[in-house]
Amino acid sequence: MISRNKAGLDDFVLLENFTNEDSFIENLRIRYESNLIYTFIGPVLISVNPYKHLGIFNDEFKREYKNTNLFELPPHIYAIADNSYRTMLRENRDECILISGESGAGKTEASKYILEFIAATTINHNESIDLVKEKLLKSNSILESFGNATTTRNDNSSRFGKYMDIRFDYKGSPNGGCILNYLLEKSRVVSQAKNERNFHIFYQLLNGADDELLKILRLERQIDKYEYLNKDLITSENDQEDKVNFFDMFNALDVCDFKMEDKISLLKIISSILHLGNVKFENLSTASKKDYIKSIKKSDGECENSLENFCHMLTLDKEAASEALINRTYQVNSIAQSEKVKSPLNIDQANYARDALAKDIYERTFNWILLKINQSLEETKNSPISASSLNGNCVGILDIYGFEVFQTNGFEQFCINYCNEKLHELFIELTLKSEQEEYAAEGIVWEPIEYFNNKIICNLIEQKPISIIDFMDEECLRPGEPNDITFLDKISTYFLKHPHFECIKTMKKTTKNIKGNEFVIKHYAGPVVYNVKNFLDKNNNLLFRNLKELMLKSDNSIIKAIYTEAELSENKRHETVASQFRTGLKKLMHILYTKEPSYIRCIKTNYDKRSDYFDTELVRHQVKYLSLMENLRVRRAGFAFRKPYEQFLERYKSICPKTWPHFRGDPKDGVEEICKHLKYEREVDYSMGHSKIFIRLSKSFFDLEDLFHIQ
Ligand code: ADP
Ligand code: MG
Repeated sequence: MISRNKAGLDDFVLLENFTNEDSFIENLRIRYESNLIYTFIGPVLISVNPYKHLGIFNDEFKREYKNTNLFELPPHIYAIADNSYRTMLRENRDECILISGESGAGKTEASKYILEFIAATTINHNESIDLVKEKLLKSNSILESFGNATTTRNDNSSRFGKYMDIRFDYKGSPNGGCILNYLLEKSRVVSQAKNERNFHIFYQLLNGADDELLKILRLERQIDKYEYLNKDLITSENDQEDKVNFFDMFNALDVCDFKMEDKISLLKIISSILHLGNVKFENLSTASKKDYIKSIKKSDGECENSLENFCHMLTLDKEAASEALINRTYQVNSIAQSEKVKSPLNIDQANYARDALAKDIYERTFNWILLKINQSLEETKNSPISASSLNGNCVGILDIYGFEVFQTNGFEQFCINYCNEKLHELFIELTLKSEQEEYAAEGIVWEPIEYFNNKIICNLIEQKPISIIDFMDEECLRPGEPNDITFLDKISTYFLKHPHFECIKTMKKTTKNIKGNEFVIKHYAGPVVYNVKNFLDKNNNLLFRNLKELMLKSDNSIIKAIYTEAELSENKRHETVASQFRTGLKKLMHILYTKEPSYIRCIKTNYDKRSDYFDTELVRHQVKYLSLMENLRVRRAGFAFRKPYEQFLERYKSICPKTWPHFRGDPKDGVEEICKHLKYEREVDYSMGHSKIFIRLSKSFFDLEDLFHIQ
């Protein structure tokens, strides 16, 4: 039996002084100190990362939470998972679970617990169900190898946003799925901050591959041989873990139907990137004023080898690769003909082009891996065994970066916060919408709630044709070198009077410590100062045409799939990163709007990955950025507490002599008896819907809960 350790309140809706942030945080702290990491705000679950094993995710817990009503047992992630799953089945509609929180707050772990719960509690009525479950669970280790990295905030930090749909058949067993990804942080492939690592796969390969495989890949085991692997963070403590994870990942590739040829191609690509990173350039004509390079560094034998190895891995011609890396070719279209103009690069430009290629190959490979996993999930679904139990509905899980505010905020934070702004828009709309719908369905009279609509901020960022993203794109697509400052000037002028935008000119007067080159967006969660440095370059995501052409010559099975002729011949405009993200988010919102959402808000208690340490200020920061107080206010503004008559009677019958020990008759009448006994005033303290009682939170309600807890 799950122990009912009661420390603090397990539902914030019961908090008397609910507008007070301090008492909110205090409740979280009291519970955290008693190892109670979960708390409800009505149907929203708050999860605090304990950074230690609590023994609350075992089979016993899964059994307990299976088939229980949401508030029957203490708050737990399994209660949310079970509730979503059963609502989907019962009401025959799609559900989704939205997990948010900052890096290291426990989002990805939460998504895994949900998946494990669903896998463990649904029936395997045929073989393919078993296989789908295995694929869904195992796909995580592939995605973590290629998409996660050690950062200062999280040793296993996901560097991409993930949305996963789990499809169920009519019997309620998983029979397929689909994974979408958002904004892989590909800059990590070529450089990492101090004390951070590149994506796990690089280290896993070097530590996990046997000597023979390393020889085929022309790699050496030492991490410090490779420019793209940070030399700062060479600790042997990870070696064993990397090795184990490499085998898990490889095994998972088998489960997800990756063919032998693909697996070899995949490792060759990873190896090719390491070799490419070691390619250096040198300027042979030092006397020349122009700093153009003439060659790949020849004075350094190892470097020559690196180019050779890179080409070998991708079956490329060395001369052609060398040409493509040190020149840029333009297609010049005149009336009579189109011709190619070649222009040599200087060292900086060549380094830039090399890194752009490495990032591009990695990103496309990551997308290809996802495609393969999705195909594999589809195939299982379409197998003859499962064809008998066609598709029912699905449960989606969104594991996406939370609001980010750092000392310096760049293009990445801009995209991440834009995404959170959209999710907040969805949250407001769906929470209030569903609230209103429920009142209407139950025949309850209520006053609409006033709330801040953040649509104005979303529009500022994304609304075509004039928004920050559009200005950014315009600058990127203009001929000539993109210029961050011109972009800043343009938005500063255009949005001068926008209530959620502050431009540098006015900021200088009002704010100290402004470094220049900055603008502020007043997000729903608070103002964020963005520095425009590299905004345009990151948005542009440009890979020189001749490098794409080079890739077309490769025989590597994956490279052949991810670089296509069509892409070069298509005359369409190059799509920028922000535009792609905007399109991706639009699709995501569309998916989410059609589903019934549940929310998990993750919180971390310190920056040191430590257990048993609660930094109140850090928690306060997150309570703010996750809009938890607003969440609570919305929840409390109407009838914050509601329960179907049967359940209410069952839970509270012991406090009224007329209903104890049994009430024979309509449960609604029994509930009415309890309310009379408590001297509740109808339509003031409570309201009777068609199937549920709705209670306003007043003193009397706390008395009710107190009475109940004394029993
Ligand atoms: P996020 O995805 O939000 O960045 P993760 O889910 O990767 O964060 O969690 C970071 C780390 O915190 C995990 O690697 C794990 O060590 C720890 N952690 C997270 N959730 C739990 C939990 N429920 N119980 C114990 N440890 C946890
Ligand atoms: Mg994560």
